[in-house]
Parts: sequence; structure tokens; C-alpha cells
Amino acid sequence: MSVTPPSDRVLSTLNPDGSRFWIRPRLSPGRFLNRRRVVAYGLIALFVLLPRIRIGGRPAFLIDLVTREISIAGAVFRPSDGFLLMLLGLTVVLTVFFVTALWGRIWCGWGCPQTVYLEHVFRPIERLWEGNPSEQRKLDNATLPSWRRIGKWVTYAVLAFAVANVFLAYFVRTDQLEHWVTHSPADHPVGFGIVVFVTALMFFDFTYFREQTCIVACPYGRLQSVMYDKQSLIIGYDTARGEPRGKPAKKSLPVVGEAERKGDCVDCGACVTTCPTGIDIRAGLQMECVGCAQCIDACDHVMDKLERPRGLIRYTSQDELAGKPRKIWRVRTFVYPILLAVVGALFVWQLGTRTATEVWVLRPAGPTFFDLGDGKVAAQVRIKLENKTHVTRVYQVELVEADVGTLRTPMKSWTLEPGKAAELPLFVDAARSIFVHGQHKVHLRISDDHGWHRTLPINLVGPDGGP
Ligand code: SF4
Ligand code: SF4
Repeated sequence: MSVTPPSDRVLSTLNPDGSRFWIRPRLSPGRFLNRRRVVAYGLIALFVLLPRIRIGGRPAFLIDLVTREISIAGAVFRPSDGFLLMLLGLTVVLTVFFVTALWGRIWCGWGCPQTVYLEHVFRPIERLWEGNPSEQRKLDNATLPSWRRIGKWVTYAVLAFAVANVFLAYFVRTDQLEHWVTHSPADHPVGFGIVVFVTALMFFDFTYFREQTCIVACPYGRLQSVMYDKQSLIIGYDTARGEPRGKPAKKSLPVVGEAERKGDCVDCGACVTTCPTGIDIRAGLQMECVGCAQCIDACDHVMDKLERPRGLIRYTSQDELAGKPRKIWRVRTFVYPILLAVVGALFVWQLGTRTATEVWVLRPAGPTFFDLGDGKVAAQVRIKLENKTHVTRVYQVELVEADVGTLRTPMKSWTLEPGKAAELPLFVDAARSIFVHGQHKVHLRISDDHGWHRTLPINLVGPDGGP
């Protein structure tokens, strides 16, 4: 029986009649699987710990959807940090382009949480409950789910809940999340709903959707073709060495003519049956390949048994497979790091010079001034302050040109908690005569109890009494 998917199958996971072809990959132990396991379990520990590690009292990484703050390694970014966030986003995009140009889908195969959890947590548990791929297929064909499949689903539901909590900890503070999980749903129906929804999503993904996430849903997977070039690292089959494929000749048979010489591929199908996306790497580079290296381990094992050199399937590049030399440094591998250095330096500089308090001068609301009688007016000034630090600060405002007029404020000082903003409605009482063409320039000094201060030029708008 041929294990290669029939040629009339359009997608590796679709039967000719349009139904889902379930991939039940065979595990291929080997050097890459061992290394990937070490990386995967290290990453799972990191995924769990990252939002729980505190740097400067803040989570090492948190995109707080409630407060609309992003915490990264102790630095906090708020919506008012638009330029910094744009630089940060650009740094991430350039890094993705650079890494992909050099190492292809190394992220998909080795670091992506989808692959890490599916291949190193959910599939091993599936093998424990349901056995090898042939036993799993028997369960697929059973009319009713067996106790083994139900046992797997129950374990998956518990795991999906755990993974959902790890995922949510990147978007909701861990103490808040703990409260959601440990208190009655009636106390926090929205939080409870979110936890249930994300758990259901994880269960659906790892039980049913699986490789479809990589093949049809992930935008990074879809963009591979524009990020690669012919020198990017891929997992490829050496056609020149492997073809024409065929079963190996028995050693006892006489040597056949050169015309009947077979390539090193013995068409055993081990590289296909082990592939988690169900493709045949011998058909060339395909978008469905997530770079997991399982086909390398499978084929190396076959080559070892046949006492032939390993590497019929290997990490390589399209150019290398075509007999051309490997070149690490190309235009894109020069340009991306240069752009990254520029954007990264700009980001660090902006971060270093970021002010502790953001100040905006707002347009006055309603009339710009009021007549106070006795030749005086009250000119309106509106400013907005945002405390961008991690500590509560108390702000005061003074008029620098005290001889020009008096600053009237509804409060002596304003207390702002971290990340909070406030509008300060102020008036400057001054003589009508100081306004020239309806304007007079003054300065406001804003200071806080931590030594921060800033002097703002303000154009007072008053009566047009001057020359
Ligand atoms: S595992 Fe190797 S030998 Fe077997 S079919 Fe794949 S490429 Fe050929
Ligand atoms: S072709 Fe090989 S590397 Fe690509 S997904 Fe399949 S098994 Fe993994």
C-alpha cells in the first residue's frame, strides 16, 4: 500500500470528496526531535514564567487590555507612547523578516507555541491514551467514541484550561486572573466568560483544528513566500541523490546496468507518515511545511539502516539543492540588520529621553475669557497631564510672570496615580491692557513632588484692546 497521499488530493488534509483527512503522524525519534524537546520544554517554562516574573515591580511581559498598558522588561507603554510603540512594532516586524530570510521557518518548527504545545504536550498525551497512528485511525473509524478517546478529551480539557490561563496571563494581570479562577463566577461573570471562551478555543485548536492553524489560519505561514529567498534555510529533499526512487535491490542480486541504477530514496514513505501537516517533502518546498525536522529524523533512520549517508532530507537551501554555494550574506541579510539597528537605536533613544509626565495644551472650552470688571479679564487655559511613571505624583502649576496676573486654579494640587491623566481647567486673571491683538504670551511652570518640572509657553486669548 502506498503511503504517499493520492495525487488527486488538492490539500494534504483534504480527501477528494472534500472531507477532512486526519493527519496521524508517526513519531520519529532522532537528534532533531531530542533537541526540539529540550527547546520546547524550556519554552513552556518561559511561557508560564514570563508574565509572573517582576522587573521593577511590573510583569516582565504584559499587554494589559484592562488598563491599555504594555509592560516589557520593566518599561511601561501607554496609548500616548504611539511613536515608541510604532518603533517597537517595526523592530518586531524587521526581526521576523531577518530571522526568516536567514533561517526560514525555524520559529514555526521550534518556537511557536502552537507547535510547542501540540507536538510536545497534546500529541504525546494522545499517544498515551490512543496508541500509535494505526490504533488512532481505528478509533477514528469507530461508530462511538471509545473510553480511550473520552479519556483523552477529558485530559485535553484540563490541559486546555491550563494553557488558556498561561495565554491569558499575557493580557490580564496574574492576580486578577487568579481571582477569576478561584472565586465564584457570580463575582466576575465577564472574567469567567473570558476564561471559559479561551479554554474552549484551546480545546478546539488542539483537539480538532491542529495543523489547520498553521496551514490556513496563521498569517506568518501565509507570508513565507515573500520573506524567503533561494538562500534561506529550508528543510529539503536532495532530488539529485534520491531519484529515481525505488525499493533497494537485494544485495545478493548481480549488479545491474547504470541505466537501472536507483537513487538513495527507497520510497519507504517514512518522511510522509511522520509529517504533522501530511505533506511529501520530496515534492519540493511547500507552504504547509512548518520546518519541524521530523522528516529528517525519519529519513536519517532509514539511511542508517541501509548504511547510506544521512542527509537525503536535511537543512539546506534551494540554491544549495541546485548545486550552488551557500551564501549567508545577501542584500536582504545586510539591509534587515542595518534597518534593525537604526530602528532599535531610535527606540532606545526615545525610551531614554521619554518624559515622566506628558503635557498637552488644549483648546479652551467655550468663551476664551470672562470680563471681571475693574479693567480685568480671566483668560481661560486648559492643560492635560498624564503621569507616565509607576508611582503616584502630586502636581502643582504656577504662573511664571507673577507680575502680569494671578493664576486661578480650582485646586492647589493634582494627585495622579500611575498611568492616569487629568485635565486642569485654569484661569489667568490679568489686566485687559496687556492683550495686544487679543493675545498675550505667558509661561506656566508645572512641577511634581518628585522633582520633575516643565515650563510651558501659553498664548492667553483676551480682548482685542491693544494697538
Ligand atoms: S524517508 Fe527517505 S528514503 Fe524513505 S521515502 Fe522519505 S526520502 Fe525516501
Ligand atoms: S515536510 Fe518535514 S519539516 Fe516539513 S512539516 Fe513535514 S515533517 Fe516537518
